Amino acid sequence: MNELSVGQVQNMILYVADEMIASKDELTRIDAQIGDGDHGIGMENGFRNVKKIIGDKEFDTINSLYRETGMAMINSMGGASGVLFGSLFFQGVKGMQDFCSMDSKMLVKVWSNGLNEVKRRGGAQVGDKTMVDALEPAVKAMQNREDEKNLMVIVEKAVKAAKEGMENTKQMTAKYGRAKSLMERAVGYQDAGATSIYFILRAEHQYLKMLEKNQKEIL
Ligand code: ADP
Ligand code: MG
Repeated sequence: MNELSVGQVQNMILYVADEMIASKDELTRIDAQIGDGDHGIGMENGFRNVKKIIGDKEFDTINSLYRETGMAMINSMGGASGVLFGSLFFQGVKGMQDFCSMDSKMLVKVWSNGLNEVKRRGGAQVGDKTMVDALEPAVKAMQNREDEKNLMVIVEKAVKAAKEGMENTKQMTAKYGRAKSLMERAVGYQDAGATSIYFILRAEHQYLKMLEKNQKEIL
């Protein structure tokens, strides 16, 4: 599968939303270990609003779909992480000409833009025990395979890199967020935001797998 229509990207986001809502308890448990235990709640609120805002709407472009998704998250999640996760979508399409089909180049571009914005706004680098630790390796893995046309292959690489990055956060002390004050006591615990990045990519991969299976059955 080399490209997705606007409607398919919309369904992919809605699939991600359901997966993130279902992960609420797990994300909250992870955040409770070294944070304040609200990450799953924030994600649930954010993605419930996404479903409400984009669920029944028809979009002409992927740009408007991404902007409305990001805004739905920013408006409902609150806090720094709401802006950061919302920006992944909202700023993912920043400065891009309107497009109506998502091929591998566009997918990589959108994720790269999102990463740049999260780093610009949040200031975190790899090693600071944040979502960037999963996001940056995932984006690099995608950039390394930019000439690969099959979306599944690209997203699969990203999922693998995000998982490794998420697991690496266990060894880190935190420079941002609430875990910062724990210093070395945060070591041994995984970062909640990095976990969400892995879950989002994993859900995108699951959606693509489902889509491919359905298309094979139709043929
Ligand atoms: P809060 O920290 O306000 O309770 P959440 O629990 O929803 O918000 O999100 C916490 C996550 O946000 C952290 O696990 C981390 O991954 C991410 N995060 C926090 N601050 C930053 C930052 N400056 N840059 C990147 N990510 C950050
Ligand atoms: Mg929290």
